[in-house]
Amino acid sequence: MFEHLLRENIRKLIPYSSARSEFKGVAEVLLDANENPFDHSFNRYPDPMQKVLKEAIGKYRVIDPERIFLSNGSDGIIEMVVRTFCEPGKDSISYFTPGFSMYKVAAHLNDAATNVFELDEDFQLDEVAFVANLNDNDKLVFVTSPNNPTGNSYSLAQVKYIAENFNGLVVLDEAYVDFSSVPSGISLLDEYPNLIVMQTFSKAFGAAGIRLGMVFMCEELVGYLNKVKMPYNISEITQQAAMKVLADPDRIKAEVTQLIAERKRLEADLPKNDQVVKIYPSDTNFLLTKFVDSAKVYNCLLDKGIILRDISRVKGCESCLRVTVGTPVENDRLLAALKEIK
Ligand code: PMP
Repeated sequence: MFEHLLRENIRKLIPYSSARSEFKGVAEVLLDANENPFDHSFNRYPDPMQKVLKEAIGKYRVIDPERIFLSNGSDGIIEMVVRTFCEPGKDSISYFTPGFSMYKVAAHLNDAATNVFELDEDFQLDEVAFVANLNDNDKLVFVTSPNNPTGNSYSLAQVKYIAENFNGLVVLDEAYVDFSSVPSGISLLDEYPNLIVMQTFSKAFGAAGIRLGMVFMCEELVGYLNKVKMPYNISEITQQAAMKVLADPDRIKAEVTQLIAERKRLEADLPKNDQVVKIYPSDTNFLLTKFVDSAKVYNCLLDKGIILRDISRVKGCESCLRVTVGTPVENDRLLAALKEIK
């Protein structure tokens, strides 16, 4: 259904076939992959298809494991989908600004052109105008919901509209979905096979260090990414760590609940400070915050060992800093440090 969207060389590509992906069944003596046979925990190559981990993720997210692809963070998948579908020097991607900056980097790495659409002053997107103005060479559009750095979500109806009216692939980046009141677009996958839903272990799951991104999509698209991926693309250490994360869903839920409560506390307390002009509504674990003098606030906090993300150079986010919600103690430190700024 989507073969025509593939980049020409990838359509023709004969993928590398690893020793472990060729054989099926149970082997007791593994003399196929030139490994060191002595057991040091990590002497063997990892499962190239991450079968056990995909089953655990499928159970957690309620999706068929065959519709899951895993990557080195969602950053890795962003680059990979551009590399797989965009013909260098010809094809393009579309996305919104203010938005996540990796889409542009991935496009430039792969010599794909970029078409950038501005959100309105409340960071809302106009899906009808967006679709009407897409470029003929667009292979991919990226929709980030909730959006970074603005913090707001879009409705599933908007995502549906885009998927229904665009002939290419719609990548829905849901890095912050666990903090959102809008449910995941995974529920749209059956109806819209051109939708790719991207999530990550880096935010709500509390495992940014293991570098694991998850992508949910139709089996045909999973097949294309399997063709392009490096043979053993997810390390054994990462696969084991991810299994440990998923073994304790109560911990994930409790931390998300606490982070949302802390976000609400910051939303209520930050505006009491004279430097704070505005807090934008957030469906995430961060708050886009407009300050009277963002450079001064940024530098004064830095002097006190507190680092925020400076967003002030992004059009539409002038004088804004992005505040990640920390632990209660860290948030107290932030509020106290802000009070000391004269
Ligand atoms: N998408 C969005 C919207 C993000 O904000 C981030 C991280 N800041 C990512 C993707 C990348 O996440 P990771 O590579 O850690 O999975």
